[in-house]
Amino acid sequence: MKKCIKVIIVILCCIFFVCNTSASSNKTSLKDLKDKLAKDEAALKTATNKKNAMQNNIKNIESDLKKIADEITGYESSIEESKLKVTELEKEIAEKQKEIDKLLSFKQVVDEENMYLEYVFESKTFTDFIYRSSIVEQLGKYNDELIDEMYNLIDENKQEQKNLSNKIDESEVTIDKLSATLKKYNLTMDDLVDDHKDAKAEYEASKKEVAAYEKLYKQNGCKETTSIIDCIDIPYAKGFIRPLKSGTITSEYGLRYHPTLHYYRMHNGIDIGVPTNTTVYAAAAGIVTKIVKVANPNKKNSSCGGNKVYVKHRIDGKEYTSVYMHLHSISVKLNDYVTASSEIGKSGGGESYDYCTTGPHLHFGIMKGNDYVNPRNYISFPKKGYKFTSRY
Ligand SMILES: [Zn+2]
Repeated sequence: MKKCIKVIIVILCCIFFVCNTSASSNKTSLKDLKDKLAKDEAALKTATNKKNAMQNNIKNIESDLKKIADEITGYESSIEESKLKVTELEKEIAEKQKEIDKLLSFKQVVDEENMYLEYVFESKTFTDFIYRSSIVEQLGKYNDELIDEMYNLIDENKQEQKNLSNKIDESEVTIDKLSATLKKYNLTMDDLVDDHKDAKAEYEASKKEVAAYEKLYKQNGCKETTSIIDCIDIPYAKGFIRPLKSGTITSEYGLRYHPTLHYYRMHNGIDIGVPTNTTVYAAAAGIVTKIVKVANPNKKNSSCGGNKVYVKHRIDGKEYTSVYMHLHSISVKLNDYVTASSEIGKSGGGESYDYCTTGPHLHFGIMKGNDYVNPRNYISFPKKGYKFTSRY
């Protein structure tokens, strides 16, 4: 029972909240637009920070890669040095070996012909021979030790070469890893650059929108909180008609699994499949209140929404805004008065125009005050997958 009461309270709260917000947002004021501008500015700041952070990441990786490449060059020249040392040592060993051989053969002679030499050299000879023998022996030993030492040095050098080439292998693995990360970062960077451009375009558009309204509000002596429809001369219209002469409905208004972003999100309009460069008309008489021009609408992956135009209407005394997205080109200017036969721009939306679409189409949305509503509630469209061939 307690649970039931709790659930009912939560539902009532939700209903109250929804009703309350929609009631308060049926009309837009200059203050609302300023709030939106502040949000756009914050979004731009976030996008800038993200872009800068990624730029730093990329710079760090690039300098790491350079450091490792330099290290490899160092290892390689050490290996060459070590190889030279080995060759030199081998040469020295061969020479020493020759010396030893010579000494040993001399010793042999001395040992064998001891007696004979004793005679030849008379008085001094015996001690002399002993002395000579020991010298020869010592020299031989000394040379043996020297050769052993050289062999050890060769071993050490070869080990060093092995260690260095292992280090090169390890460095190359690190380079591969860093290069893969760099590639990933560069791709993310492309997206962040686009996001930044979009955020900037959105911010600039909002700034211009606010400036234009501020001027009109001042001219008409309105308060910031006065709604636009009560302050500004927005043309009267009877209702909306289709923004295209023909097209096929490809996606509905509402929560949907996004085809390219791959998550559920609100689709704030209806998608109408139409060839690129088809004329898009205003859905009713009104005034162009906002234009978002992306930096490069013809570049792949430029923005989600592409070029956008917002037109404000007065229908049945209520404020509406029609929204046209993914435009290939824009034919109107800010504050232009339009009728239902005015050209807003040409359609785009193909894969090459922005990353949120899978084919050329017009995204058409309607806002009542500050809230997006289903365009089907105001315009008759055929079922999804079906084509219409007139504006009515
Ligand atoms: Zn859409």
